[in-house]
Amino acid sequence: MNDWAILDLVLYFTGSLIALTQSIVFAHYFRLFRGDHLSLWSISFLSLAIYLGAAGLSVLLLPHYPAAHPLRLFLSCVSLTAAYIQVAALVMGTMAIWRTQRWTRSQLVGALAAASLFGLLTCLAFAFDPAASGERFFLRVGLRLLITGLAALCMGIAIAWRWPRAKVGAQLTAIALSIYGLDLLQVFGVYVVQTMGGSPWSWLKYLGVVGLVTQIFIGYGLVIWLLENERDRAEHASDAAEWLRYFDPLTGLPNRAQMLSRVNQQIQQPQGAAMLLVRLDNLGNIAVASGMAGVDVAVLSSAERIEEIGRTSGLVAARPGADHLALYGSGPGSESSLQRAAEQILLALAQPLFWNGRELPLEASVGIAMAPRDADSAETLQSRAEMARASAQREGPMRYRVYAHDLDLEAKQRLELQSELRAAFANDEFHLEFQPILDGWNLEICGFEALIRWQHPKRGRLLPDEFIAELEPLGLVEALDTWVLNQACLAAKAWQRPGSDPITVAVNISAYSFQRRKFADSIRSMLERTGLAPGCLEIEIIESIAMGQPERAGYSIDRLRDLGVRVMLDDFGTGFSSLKHLRQLPFDGLKIDHSFVVDVLVDSRDAAIVKAMLALAHSLGLEVVAEGIETAAQLAWFQSAGCDRLQGFHFHRSMDQEAVLELLRNSAHARSSRPIPAS
Ligand code: C2E
Ligand code: MG
Ligand code: MG
Repeated sequence: MNDWAILDLVLYFTGSLIALTQSIVFAHYFRLFRGDHLSLWSISFLSLAIYLGAAGLSVLLLPHYPAAHPLRLFLSCVSLTAAYIQVAALVMGTMAIWRTQRWTRSQLVGALAAASLFGLLTCLAFAFDPAASGERFFLRVGLRLLITGLAALCMGIAIAWRWPRAKVGAQLTAIALSIYGLDLLQVFGVYVVQTMGGSPWSWLKYLGVVGLVTQIFIGYGLVIWLLENERDRAEHASDAAEWLRYFDPLTGLPNRAQMLSRVNQQIQQPQGAAMLLVRLDNLGNIAVASGMAGVDVAVLSSAERIEEIGRTSGLVAARPGADHLALYGSGPGSESSLQRAAEQILLALAQPLFWNGRELPLEASVGIAMAPRDADSAETLQSRAEMARASAQREGPMRYRVYAHDLDLEAKQRLELQSELRAAFANDEFHLEFQPILDGWNLEICGFEALIRWQHPKRGRLLPDEFIAELEPLGLVEALDTWVLNQACLAAKAWQRPGSDPITVAVNISAYSFQRRKFADSIRSMLERTGLAPGCLEIEIIESIAMGQPERAGYSIDRLRDLGVRVMLDDFGTGFSSLKHLRQLPFDGLKIDHSFVVDVLVDSRDAAIVKAMLALAHSLGLEVVAEGIETAAQLAWFQSAGCDRLQGFHFHRSMDQEAVLELLRNSAHARSSRPIPAS
């Protein structure tokens, strides 16, 4: 064995050992960090180790076995297959770093299989033809040198071009790969010169060492590159985590922590701080109608509108909670300027918002608080603003309120009321009263409206306005509605007399119960249980129910009408009074609110509006009930206007079941003793 062969052997085996350790290192990193590039680099270096090991063994066996001996052939096949897998895995692994898409499994398997097949073919071609030793040598050695050299050089250039300002790792890899490629091409050049009969400079042989050294540097370069990448990623992730601690990812606005820390700083300043807390009250309905994507759009758009108002009034926008937005700032200025900002917010949010062809109806309430007047810390300031906001929300949609000290007392009383309400259910403190509804033509009683009353142990008989709103936060709305329905149906069952006209009972139902999909089913089983005819039951809903989710309201109305139960739109004329709802939803009738009834005789414009309402309702085939008739003059006006039914203190106040039965007995008696008109 001559010196060159010994040098070759040393290079092969040392290279193989180094490549093996590099492969193990990448496999280890793959277990730690994952990533296609790491598994591919590990495969690439393992293949290189196999290639170099098998090639070394071939050199060792060279003098002892003929070229076509199965052992040498086998070693050649192994080494060449591994050599091309090495190239393919190196190229794909490096490309995996800059590709936006991951390699698919079939792409990976396909490329590596194609590379090994190519290696196998180049080994087997001319394998058994002793006359073709030149061609065989070219395919096994020359072609590999050329392809691997070109691939390494191209990868080196590509990395340098892709990351011109790269850190040490990528630069080292690019340089090492380029030199490695050039070295292989140089060996290929030597081979070509030799084949053409020339004799290259003998020292060129020593350049083989360069290949080994650069191979080591490629490995080092890749490892350093990997560590630098991981450090960048870790820094980026910790920056993102830091950002998320103080900002809301959806809107990019400061979150509660950031807002409170800023407000706490501002409170220390002589000019103090102010906060406008906005709650988006309709997100639940939007979520049901348009999904969480709709909610995101509603929040984002509200945040933009509020931010814009903040910009003009020198306040900063924030998102302190999932359905809360806020404006805060130092030097609050006058209370009236904050009220102006609140009005602007409500006005901006009232502008229609469309998404995916449907409207996202925004509804909001705003609370205002100032420091140091109302609070001495940001947390207290926020809870005071929230207290004011909740109070505004209770007054109705799209309201704002400025914090005042009596709200504290109010909040305490509400808490007390809520615990008393819970007990009221257990202690059976509710009862129903019934207010007669009269036929507009003959003024005979045709039905009653069921009205809930609470016999409070200390405060006596309470009206619904004093407690109904408190049931919702307690989750007792549905329980109350079910109880009222059941009692009302049982009571109405007792009113019916064979041979007489049916007497209806009208029951007020909350939005929550009415929008449930199973609402009509529960009414059907209630009617079956109590034995009341469906035609004797009327459900009253207020307009905001129809407004919030017209589809759900429409579904319940249709199902109830299928059953034969009538549905009335209560308090018509208050709230948003959209004629659109009358057209869209198949109500049986509407109840004109008390406030209009009072005004018809004093305000000619109100009188004109009510006349128009009546004409419109009748043209749509709807029945009209006027509620709150208190005087004979109002009665005369509504009778002459053709109102179908009438209700009010002028006729009767609400009464208990005993009084209802008595009243019905008396009116039946009066009817039967009335002289029959002569025909
Ligand atoms: P509503 O459905 O519009 O009921 C009519 C209200 O007007 C009743 O007040 C009734 O007492 C009152 N009223 C009737 N005639 C006159 C009149 O001539 N003048 C005046 N000033 N008022 C008159 P009430 O009982 O205090 O009920 C208030 C509201 O509470 C009801 O308005 C209804 O929305 C709600 N409510 C009552 N009972 C229930 C119930 O069982 N469930 C639910 N969810 N809500 C109910
Ligand atoms: Mg009513
Ligand atoms: Mg009403």
